[in-house]
Amino acid sequence: MKSLERLIRTIPDYPKPGIMFRDITTLLGDAKGLKKAIKAMAEPFEDAKVDAVAGIEARGFILGGAIADRLGCGFIPIRKKGKLPWKTIGQEYALEYGVDIIEMHEDAIAQDQRILVVDDLIATGGTAEAAIKLVKRSGGKIVGATFVIDLPDLGGVKRLAELGVESHTLVAFGGH
Ligand code: AMP
Repeated sequence: MKSLERLIRTIPDYPKPGIMFRDITTLLGDAKGLKKAIKAMAEPFEDAKVDAVAGIEARGFILGGAIADRLGCGFIPIRKKGKLPWKTIGQEYALEYGVDIIEMHEDAIAQDQRILVVDDLIATGGTAEAAIKLVKRSGGKIVGATFVIDLPDLGGVKRLAELGVESHTLVAFGGH
């Protein structure tokens, strides 16, 4: 996965001082790299009978759509508050300062459907945890969660493991 790591651009102090922003647009723009990332993110779940991928706005949409196509399953968008046109259920999650809300259509998931959560990066795991809670509240079963990047120092993978959710990640970066 070294080749994937090299395709990720790091932008220091964005969006604020002290944050190393891991920019995947450089990976998405590379034909071979994109194919490799999608294949590797989907592979562990090929025999997992996934009914739908739940992708987290916005980079989780790009990766999640391609993974859903590869797995032959549906795609469910999880969006920031106020963006979805139909009736929604929402889930709050903590940010460094304050809270945010993500939403999903209330009828997006049927009882016991098997759902794979997708995003580009897991840091504290707060966003993914909120997505997992939305899926579970809708009657879905979490098959796992798949990300390009893990920031292990922020503990997200461990946090999801404590919820009984296994994370699959391709590259890891130390620090924030
Ligand atoms: P968290 O909820 O702390 O796991 O943060 C994960 C979400 O925030 C994902 O949707 C990421 O795209 C975004 N994110 C957090 N930290 C970074 C970072 N250092 N570089 C790029 N995106 C990040």
